[in-house]
Amino acid sequence: MGKIKIGIVGYGNLGRGVEYAIRQNPDMELVAVFTRRQPGDISLKTSGVAVCHYDEMKQYVGKIDVMVLCGGSATDLIVQAPDVAKMFNTVDSFDTHARIPEFYSLVDAAAKPTKHVSIISVGWDPGMFSITRLYNNCILPDAKDYTFWGKGVSQGHSDAIRRVEGVKNGKQYTVPVESAVEQVRTGSNPELTTRQKHTRVCYVVAQPGAELARIESEIKNMPNYFADYDTFVNFISDEEFEKNHNTMPHGGFVIRSGFTGENRENKQLIEYSLKLDSNPEFTSSVLVAYARAAYKLANEASYGAKTVFDIAPALLSPMSNEALREQFL
Ligand code: NAP
Repeated sequence: MGKIKIGIVGYGNLGRGVEYAIRQNPDMELVAVFTRRQPGDISLKTSGVAVCHYDEMKQYVGKIDVMVLCGGSATDLIVQAPDVAKMFNTVDSFDTHARIPEFYSLVDAAAKPTKHVSIISVGWDPGMFSITRLYNNCILPDAKDYTFWGKGVSQGHSDAIRRVEGVKNGKQYTVPVESAVEQVRTGSNPELTTRQKHTRVCYVVAQPGAELARIESEIKNMPNYFADYDTFVNFISDEEFEKNHNTMPHGGFVIRSGFTGENRENKQLIEYSLKLDSNPEFTSSVLVAYARAAYKLANEASYGAKTVFDIAPALLSPMSNEALREQFL
């Protein structure tokens, strides 16, 4: 069997991550990267792979099995996913939770009539965390869900800091409150407020002469972003920022804690956790596994938009079902 031919649409953090992930999956090959920028301005980490303009994609119909869409959720994917799904099978990591139903309909309307498979909102949240929440709820109906994120960088909150006047650079870490996580792990099912679950820790490089007290107050009182949390603001130098805050770690825990038995006498607790040095590289690894599933589903003529809930686990694997039964069951 030939290799699964992959294209990457958008070459940012996820795009680079997909390029690395394909190297770890010998049943796949990277054929081309598509960008809205000048292709000549992009240098890939892999030799022999074409870099093309987004508008040249049509020429690759029949030469690429699955396009991995690596655009941003804020504005790129809502346009790119339906556009590309008319020509190719796709996977994407759309993570604007509130807009997923609308996004699903848009992509389904593009993919189904043109006989393509599009797996949407793949990654870790949405993605692996969503699957865990679904399994946990099916298995333990009498229970409570808890999701903790971090310690990790939130792009949205970091952007919000950088918009404050007098801020030159900034990064925000979401940190789960350890005592809250421990309390949940005891199975006592506490009611926790937003503030009790996470703290927000900010590292800020201020412009020379900027009023630090005002910047700190503006950040801490910013509605929707920081006002509902205990927020800590640390002012640091450019050098310290470059040295200690140039990576994108993330992770978190999904916990469901409940009861079974005649009188709910037995506590049952499920925990799934991720500790990621690189959020984009992990997300890309998930995308690549789902690209394999998209390829298999297209071969079965099971077209249209799908989510991680619709994908049987065996479809993610390069191994045969017999081998999976032997090794993992
Ligand atoms: P990013 O680095 O900002 O890249 C987004 C797009 O911006 C790229 O596709 C690229 O498109 C363009 N771009 C990148 N670098 C650029 C540069 N130097 N100059 C101009 N344009 C540039 O974003 P990302 O970190 O890859 O994340 C993409 C999305 O993944 C996020 O919006 C987030 O929603 C999603 N995500 C989901 C999960 C999940 O668990 N589901 C987890 C993490 C992230 P062109 O090449 O076309 O210019």
